[in-house]
Amino acid sequence: MKDWQASAKALYDGAFRPMVIDGEWRAARSGREMQATNPADGSVLATVPRGDAADIDAAVAAARRAFEGPWAAFTPYERQNLLLRIAERFEAEWETLCLSDTLDMGMPIQRTLANQRRVLGMLRFYAGQAVSVHGQTLPNSFPGEIYSSTVREPVGVVGAIIPWNAPIAGSVWKIAPALATGCTVVLKPSEEASLTVLMIARIMQEAGLPDGVLNVVTGTGAEAGAALAAHPGVDKIVFTGSTATGQAIARAATGNLKRVSLELGGKSPVIVCRDADMDKAVPVAAMAVFANSGQICIAGSRLFVAREIHDEFVRRVADYASKLKIGHGIAPDTDLGPIISARQAERIAGFLSTGPAEGAEIVAGGGRATGSGLDGGHFFQPTVFGGVTDEMTVAREEIFGPVIAAMPFDTLDEVVDRANATPYGLAAGVFSTHLGTAHKLAHRLKAGSVWVNMYHAIDPAVPFGGMKMSGYGREGGAEHVEEYLDTKAIWINAD
Ligand code: NAD
Repeated sequence: MKDWQASAKALYDGAFRPMVIDGEWRAARSGREMQATNPADGSVLATVPRGDAADIDAAVAAARRAFEGPWAAFTPYERQNLLLRIAERFEAEWETLCLSDTLDMGMPIQRTLANQRRVLGMLRFYAGQAVSVHGQTLPNSFPGEIYSSTVREPVGVVGAIIPWNAPIAGSVWKIAPALATGCTVVLKPSEEASLTVLMIARIMQEAGLPDGVLNVVTGTGAEAGAALAAHPGVDKIVFTGSTATGQAIARAATGNLKRVSLELGGKSPVIVCRDADMDKAVPVAAMAVFANSGQICIAGSRLFVAREIHDEFVRRVADYASKLKIGHGIAPDTDLGPIISARQAERIAGFLSTGPAEGAEIVAGGGRATGSGLDGGHFFQPTVFGGVTDEMTVAREEIFGPVIAAMPFDTLDEVVDRANATPYGLAAGVFSTHLGTAHKLAHRLKAGSVWVNMYHAIDPAVPFGGMKMSGYGREGGAEHVEEYLDTKAIWINAD
């Protein structure tokens, strides 16, 4: 078995890691730095620049120069080849990328490694998209005399802002469509997890990405993020993160009416019908929340179970939860790694007290996980609350931790109404062996993705995104590149 511990020591030794603007690896203009820590034990992995508005200005200017200069001369075939070369480099460095993510944000290494097919798929899917973008010839009232057609043009400089919970996939899903369409990017990673994004920028540079096409400014949301969202030189913002920050970004973007797409939070329902295959549904329903310790936007945190099977199903989910292994992400058998920060841990601990205080019953877990090797980080037991009602805080608010709120239901009409009674609309799961029931529920649930007898599936070729306050715009699928394109109509008088 691979000795991840030894590789970890060699990867990050506490030294300064610069950010990249216009192909140059730099400190922040202010000279300020911030620490990148390992959430499993609090150790300092590296320091990174604490960029602010001045660095964002420099990065946006570099992205504009590249957009109007050398990058504009790249043909779609050259952009395609570049994305394919980047995919090859990712494949070659995959273990290092995963180790970096696991150290920087705690995701268990078995889970980061398992994302390979999806991330390489994204790069290769958008390589294909680079040569698929095309306009149309359109009818008009003067056939043969006047020709009308459209061309698709890159929107320009894209500002990308991402959270900490999936830095590899999160950044590639912003960068790849931008490169495919001929846009340039200023990317602001989360202050909680910048290191892998810097590694990604280095890999792309080595694969031949011209200077200024991808600029990464590390820093806080209040300083670097807000400056990017409001910047008049940015044509489009793509954002993944919390709904509150998404609202702030949408407001900040009004100054120059830049386009915005938002992938935000959720409180996703998982519905287990009485005819569900329990053996298959139990582990999937459990991991719909416990994967990445619940730090996933699509966490299926409201578990609605048909009353006839409710008690048995919830008990089996609780049994499954109690067998999950909690530990450092780099231990290959870890199922639940640490929570990213003390701030997030406090939030989760708050929900763990609010649940019972409002009448929920603890069926599994219910507190922090302690024990040998867990002292330096913030670890939580996978928790199942029973006896939950729709009004309770744990059934309404996004927890972003390993907490299930289980509730019985009696009829399909009732469960649809209750599942949809949330401001969010990101994802939903349905478990039923009856095709008609599954179909009906999938159609009536108000969510950007509905999974039937499965959960978590995301593919570059399939659109992903939210309804209602889970955001707007889609990532993945052919429609994703639309987010990065403008349409120009051209009229030609042939007389
Ligand atoms: P967050 O909103 O606090 O931060 C996300 C990013 O926005 C970070 O880079 C942060 O620095 C930046 N930011 C913060 N304030 C800003 C501001 N005023 N202007 C510009 N940028 C700002 O979210 P988080 O805590 O990092 O991540 C957790 C949230 O993200 C959860 O709500 C989760 O549901 C959501 N999320 C959604 C998806 C999705 O695809 N829908 C995926 C992952 C996470």
